[in-house]
Amino acid sequence: MQRPYNFSAGPAAMPVEVLQQAAAEMLDWHGSGMSVMEMSHRGKEFMSIIETAEADLRELLAVPPNFRILFMQGGGLGENAIVPLNLSRGGVVDFVVTGSWSQKSFKEARKFCDPHLAASNEADCHTRLPAPGSWQLSPDAQYVHLCSNETIHGVELHELPDLKALGSNAPLVIDFSSHVASRTVDWRRVGLAFGGAQKNLGPAGVTLVVVREDLLGHALSICPSAFDYKTVADNGSMYNTPPTYGIYMAGLTFQWLKRQSEGNLRGIAAMEHRNMAKAELLYGFIDQSSFYVNKVATDCRSRMNVPFFLRDESRNEAFLAGAKAAGLLQLKGHKSVGGMRASLYNAMPLEGVQALVAYMRDFEQKLA
Ligand SMILES: *Cc1c(COP(=O)(O)O)cnc(C)c1O
Repeated sequence: MQRPYNFSAGPAAMPVEVLQQAAAEMLDWHGSGMSVMEMSHRGKEFMSIIETAEADLRELLAVPPNFRILFMQGGGLGENAIVPLNLSRGGVVDFVVTGSWSQKSFKEARKFCDPHLAASNEADCHTRLPAPGSWQLSPDAQYVHLCSNETIHGVELHELPDLKALGSNAPLVIDFSSHVASRTVDWRRVGLAFGGAQKNLGPAGVTLVVVREDLLGHALSICPSAFDYKTVADNGSMYNTPPTYGIYMAGLTFQWLKRQSEGNLRGIAAMEHRNMAKAELLYGFIDQSSFYVNKVATDCRSRMNVPFFLRDESRNEAFLAGAKAAGLLQLKGHKSVGGMRASLYNAMPLEGVQALVAYMRDFEQKLA
């Protein structure tokens, strides 16, 4: 059976092998007689699942020992409150707004601290990134927030900024929800990274936080205990019941990632290589076409989320219906941008992008 290719921006497609393994283990995990959903989170079975998941993720993303890995809940939007509750000390925080998600983070932070807009690409309709040299960073900022991949606008930072070189001593906070595990991370430039799992790691319900140890323990007194990073870290992500099944599924995805290779490349490096090839194929096709267009500046185009438009938008419905019939699902663009969006997360094979390009070419030729 050939499954359709699913281009959803999130919750998104997961590797078929992961889904098959979960199905096989559904009623009886490793001879325990229980589904993972039915286990105590403090029992030895689940403890081994979460410890393996954390160790695998640390290895995959090359997370240094002075960073803690937390499995939390509340999603990316929850973190828009949880990060300022933990890191802002009620003071000044700099925001670089590059699209809808960082805009949301900036607005939410007003409830907890004094957010400053250091840079924005709103005047460019979020299609190009403000050069780091032009950011107006505050001398007293508690941290600098940016979204390293804007899922809706399809804008990705291909190099994290070196804040020290820009004259700031503040830690960098990144929302990497929609490109975590698609590429390597330069942890020397990061203080905290967060992301919901449902784009590239597993099912919705798990929020990943990777935080440098020195940033723990500064939460505002109004911060809920279950969202205090230090409390969560001190309790091994088990202060309250964690999203056990989601952590298990993310863990299976980490094992799948560890098995991936491209030539000499393994794990995340192999995925990055594959993701670049997938993105090049789709952008290359769009750019040579006079029928389709992508409006994002070439140096900051996302490898994960490719928004594109039919120049004749009256064809949108026919395009989507034909795509569905051809086994290409969830290509409709976000309502705030319109047009189409193809999300090419790790679970999307190159063959899926080849099938999409073949369909797009065919659709264009039929109308010519
Ligand atoms: C999806 C997404 C979010 C929101 O995540 P929720 O889990 O819905 O709260 C935040 N930031 C980015 C970059 C996203 O892609």
